[in-house]
Amino acid sequence: MNRKYRKTVIAANWKMNKTPTETKAFMTEFKGLMPKGRWCDVAICVPAVCIPAAVRAMRETRVGIGGENCSAHASGAFTGEIAANMLVDAGCKYVIIGHSERRAMGETDAEVNAKVKAALLNELIPIMCVGESLAQREAGITEEWITMQVKAGLAGIPEEKIRKIVIAYEPIWAIGTGKVATPEQAEEVCEHIRTVIRKMFGAKIARATSILYGGSMNEKNAYELLAQPDIDGGLIGGASLVPEKFVQIIEAANQPTN
Ligand code: PEP
Repeated sequence: MNRKYRKTVIAANWKMNKTPTETKAFMTEFKGLMPKGRWCDVAICVPAVCIPAAVRAMRETRVGIGGENCSAHASGAFTGEIAANMLVDAGCKYVIIGHSERRAMGETDAEVNAKVKAALLNELIPIMCVGESLAQREAGITEEWITMQVKAGLAGIPEEKIRKIVIAYEPIWAIGTGKVATPEQAEEVCEHIRTVIRKMFGAKIARATSILYGGSMNEKNAYELLAQPDIDGGLIGGASLVPEKFVQIIEAANQPTN
C-alpha cells in the first residue's frame, strides 16, 4: 500500500451468495464490528436483489455498495441485464467488471472495455478484474496476458477518467481455491500492471491508481499481502461473507505503512 499517493480499497465480492434477508443480518453484525476511527475505503459488492437491503443498512456509514456486473448498454431489449444508471439509482457506488467467473461465461475484453466506459459515464467506480490461468502462468506468459487485458480494458478511456478506476489482479488459479499467491507473486504482477498504466497514461496517473489483489485473501494472509508496495487493497470472495473475517481484513489494511 502507499496511502500517500492512492486509496486503499477493501472490496467484497459476494458472488451468488446471500438473500436480501441474510444481507440485512450480515450488515447489522458487520456494523457492530466495524473499526472505529479512520480506515480505508470499503466496498461491498452484492447480488443485484440484495442492493436495496445493503444500501439501506449502510446509509449512515462510509461503506460503499456495489453491483457485481453491469450492462454496456444504457437501456433496451437486454432481458436479465442491469444498466449502470440503474445501479446508481439503487444507491451503488461501485461495480465489479470483468470478473474471471464472468469472462468464463464468455465476456470478452471488448465487452469489459465497453462496460468500464458505461460505468464511468454514470459515475460508478469500476473494479476491473484481470488475471491469468494456471496454464498461462506455467507457460510463462503471465505478463503478456495481463498487459493485453489491461490495455484492452482501458482502451479509449480518457486520462482524467483512469484515476477513477480500480484494478483488481486476480489470478484465476487462486480464486476460491484456498491457493493464495505469495506476496511476492502478487506484488510482481501488481507492479507490472502499474508499469502498463504508466506507459499508457503517464507516471502521475499510474502512481494514483489503486491496484487490488484478489484470490483466497483472508484474515490470516491479508496483512502480508497488503504490506506490498503495489498492492493497494483486496477483492475478497469467500472471506467477505463472514463479518468477523471481513473486518479483520479491513483492520489489516489499516496497518501503518512507510
Ligand atoms: C473473488 O471472487 O473475486 C475472489 C477473490 O474470491 P475468493 O476470495 O473466494 O478467492
